[in-house]
Amino acid sequence: MADLEIRGVSVAYGALTVLEELNLTVPDEEFLVLLGPSGCGKSTLLNAIAGLQDISTGQVVIGGKNVTWAEPSARGIAMVFQSYALYPRMSVYRNLAYSLQVARLPRAEIEDRVHRAAEMLQITELLERKPAMLSGGQRQRVAIGRALVRDASVFLFDEPLSNLDAQLRVELRVEIKRLHRELKRTMIYVTHDQVEAMTLADKIAVLKGGEIQQLGTPDAIYDTPANLFVAGFVGAPA
Ligand code: ADP
Ligand code: MG
Repeated sequence: MADLEIRGVSVAYGALTVLEELNLTVPDEEFLVLLGPSGCGKSTLLNAIAGLQDISTGQVVIGGKNVTWAEPSARGIAMVFQSYALYPRMSVYRNLAYSLQVARLPRAEIEDRVHRAAEMLQITELLERKPAMLSGGQRQRVAIGRALVRDASVFLFDEPLSNLDAQLRVELRVEIKRLHRELKRTMIYVTHDQVEAMTLADKIAVLKGGEIQQLGTPDAIYDTPANLFVAGFVGAPA
């Protein structure tokens, strides 16, 4: 249903080419982790998929539909960023409901979606609070909730846990994996953390300098790395 295809996508910032004719197919319902060091182009690729970044060549195709020129909101994509930019003056409820209100969904539908997302993320008792009254982990749950209510066919996560302490990271990793099982949506999750990649992924794409070095299951990547870079990066202590 929502296979995601990246066909020959190039992105440059002025003279700096970050992605050059990149190809990648993510099958429907797969959890793909994009793993690579800082600066290798992970965020650039996610932003290009989401429509937040212009591409100079290539196509982004979702569920067979070419969305290369579609507005971000028309792509059926929801994205979770590293820093949880919640609206500080709004309650958690309104933070979750806001995009649905803007899209003019019926009130009952909005309430239903917000409560379902809140239940899945165990933040129901926080709905009346303002973001300032939340812990870092709770804020990131709300940030994930804002993506969940959109009911997208593809979810993109850009290092969503890297601002959290180790304990919370482990907890939320489990939650994200559970969400994937329950929602059965295509997910792309960006990280530079090998352990996170190994525990979350159906498949891992290892990226270096904007190029995919290897695409495979966590086991395959770990047991039979395609080259020294993959071996060193994946095998390095966390
Ligand atoms: P990652 O997410 O893997 O850390 P990015 O996609 O953010 O990598 O960045 C890839 C490269 O593009 C880096 O060299 C970065 O400095 C550069 N870059 C990212 N965003 C911009 C921008 N808006 N303008 C110019 N260069 C950028
Ligand atoms: Mg990044």
